[in-house]
Amino acid sequence: MERKRTKETKRRPNRRRQMQLRRRMFMLAMAVLCLIMVLVIRHVVNLAEMEDSRLPGAAPEAVDWFGAPEIDVQLLTNNEYSRPGIAMEHVNGIVVHYTANPGSTAQANRNYFEGLKDSGERKVSSHFVIGLDGEIIQCIPSSEISYASNDRNGDTLSIECCHPDETGEFNRATYTSLVQLVAWLCKRFDLEATDVIRHYDVTGKECPKYFVDHEDAWEQFLQDVSDCKDKIIEEEKEE
Ligand SMILES: [Zn+2]
Repeated sequence: MERKRTKETKRRPNRRRQMQLRRRMFMLAMAVLCLIMVLVIRHVVNLAEMEDSRLPGAAPEAVDWFGAPEIDVQLLTNNEYSRPGIAMEHVNGIVVHYTANPGSTAQANRNYFEGLKDSGERKVSSHFVIGLDGEIIQCIPSSEISYASNDRNGDTLSIECCHPDETGEFNRATYTSLVQLVAWLCKRFDLEATDVIRHYDVTGKECPKYFVDHEDAWEQFLQDVSDCKDKIIEEEKEE
């Protein structure tokens, strides 16, 4: 009897400790679960905000990404020289430019726009920059204006294209990405190929040089955009 009691008295604290341990483990698991849920929710909200900032006038879930090329979003810091944060009410066109800086990369051009916030040397920027490897960097959300196309800054999206030499001709990779990006933007903003213009058509500036010097190449480009847009719409129907 004496023995049994001592055993029981020994066991009880053990059991209590085990219960306490289990309770603590349960609380810890619940805390970890809550933390994971908070992180997931924050991630989803961030994604939604990012998509929202890229495109105007539509809730993120309504944005149609079908046929969109890969876009590396590196938005500029808001500043009066390259990202004034002025809302664009409606996208009525797309303006194509060339960098006029042979061999420069998309990243270097984007960084130059970003650096204007400190240098303040002039007001210039672009919504998109397409590089020599066909990479597309987005600098400004399409719900805001850029400083690229003079009188048409207020209602057009701008695309700067890199080029290997003085002729200003785009290489195959840059051209292919340009066609795909313009075609998708046309579909997204309900635009026709006739809404796609050169900087030259706004101010008479020799930009993009090769498409000003070669009218036939510009016509071919617009045809390629139109065909690409039709293809995206066709493929979407088949989905
Ligand atoms: Zn231009």
